[in-house]
Amino acid sequence: MSILLQIEGLTKAYGPVAVLQGVSFGLPHGQSLALTGESGSGKSTLLHLVGALDAPDNGSIVLDGVEISRLDDAGRAALRRDRIGLVFQQFNLIPSLTVSQNISFQARLARRHDPARDAMLAGRLGLSDLLHRYPEELSGGQQQRVAIARALAHAPGLILADEPTGNLDEATGDAVLDLLLELVAETGAALMMVTHSSRLAARLDRRVHLSRGQLAPWGGG
Ligand code: ADP
Ligand code: MG
Repeated sequence: MSILLQIEGLTKAYGPVAVLQGVSFGLPHGQSLALTGESGSGKSTLLHLVGALDAPDNGSIVLDGVEISRLDDAGRAALRRDRIGLVFQQFNLIPSLTVSQNISFQARLARRHDPARDAMLAGRLGLSDLLHRYPEELSGGQQQRVAIARALAHAPGLILADEPTGNLDEATGDAVLDLLLELVAETGAALMMVTHSSRLAARLDRRVHLSRGQLAPWGGG
């Protein structure tokens, strides 16, 4: 298994608060990784650094051979657009666009719009009859399925998901996670997912735990 993402010695502080204090790990192509840790332990901060939404103070993040921390703003934006798919707890769909337009939005920006792939994703995610609706006309579970389609439509190598089922009831969240894991596996993408839930974390290939600014492999419990 070749390495997609390699992180070494990552540090990040907000003022006097040292959130990440030397975080290192690697993620092979196609693998899924659960990131757990207490509230405020820095999970979202770490995910944002990997997603090039924010820059670390020190350390290196290499994605597909590209050192993210050396890119300028434009380079980081291009990397986010082309190589990464993001799924957030709050869905973050664009309210003025239809389901269909939301799904293709990032792929169009990346100049990789593929209508057949969009149709496949919409079908698998149960969205084929909802393509002309607007986000406010959808349930939470439907909105998150649109967000998953959008994250996968441009065929990124890495999906970053921050508590993707955190706003859904358990049954809906389980169904959404089933689809996310199936589609990530089928498309060959790697997944890094933040979750509070040990039950959900256990469904991914690996689990790491963030505590006191450092990552440790999860040993059970
Ligand atoms: P988690 O996702 O594990 O709950 P976060 O990464 O959101 O944790 O936050 C880790 C710590 O960093 C918290 O103490 C939080 O208050 C602080 N923090 C996060 N983002 C910012 C920011 N933009 N400015 C200042 N402090 C922040
Ligand atoms: Mg968080």
